[in-house]
Amino acid sequence: MAASGGRLPPIALTTNCPSCGVGLVPETLRDQCYVCDCGHHFRMHGDAWIALLADAGSWHERWADIRPHDLLEWKVPKAYQETIDQARAEGLNEAVRVGTATLAGHPIWLAVFDFRFVGGSLSIVAGERLTRSLEQAAAARTPYVLLAASGGARMQEGILALMQMAKINAAVGRLHQAATPYFSILTDPTYGGVPASLALLADVNIAEPGAAIGFTGPRVIRQSTYADLPSGFQSAEFQLRCGQVDMVVARTELRARLAHLIELYLRPLRGRR
Ligand SMILES: [Zn+2]
Repeated sequence: MAASGGRLPPIALTTNCPSCGVGLVPETLRDQCYVCDCGHHFRMHGDAWIALLADAGSWHERWADIRPHDLLEWKVPKAYQETIDQARAEGLNEAVRVGTATLAGHPIWLAVFDFRFVGGSLSIVAGERLTRSLEQAAAARTPYVLLAASGGARMQEGILALMQMAKINAAVGRLHQAATPYFSILTDPTYGGVPASLALLADVNIAEPGAAIGFTGPRVIRQSTYADLPSGFQSAEFQLRCGQVDMVVARTELRARLAHLIELYLRPLRGRR
């Protein structure tokens, strides 16, 4: 199976790999799903993830017209409305986009976080899109694939953003009750309310190699616990050793692994449909 559903779009790259220092050739890296020969996984934006996971031409986005608003009139450090307007002027829709697609021919619901939109933060719009898509997936028993990349709940939406965690988790519960397979991919970075809610509630929680995954950053934890943190703390590999994630999968293998998992989970359900 091809490593990606279609040709990946360009992403912003440094001139050298931050892990091995080698000079990067953008076109070569693009053909390798933005994974360096040394194994370093570069952060990808939402469009690249959709191109990687969805079969070419199969992506149908839903509820893209639900737009964020500054309900709390947040002003510090800058006006929230200004932040939203700037991101939208750059052609970004929201921190989470959802839609239907096929993956290796299997119909799926796909939700993709985009770190470029206010740090991939969980917002009212993100919560609404995730909840609606989870409910539709449960109703039709369509496998659900989540791609997480987030700094946590959107502070400019305060308690309204935090409330999304409970709402989304209830929808994940309905997905589980409907015995619908749910797969979560945690990429670099996945922090705060996202791993504290839906990103770690999947049937199979998959992390990308080297991804930073945790609730809050090491500095804050050290300040509040006065404890020395273990080396490699909050890396995907550390989370795997601690049982927080089920597997660490290289991006070049991800599509094939997901296709295999979907097939595996759907097999016993077929007779019950
Ligand atoms: Zn490298």
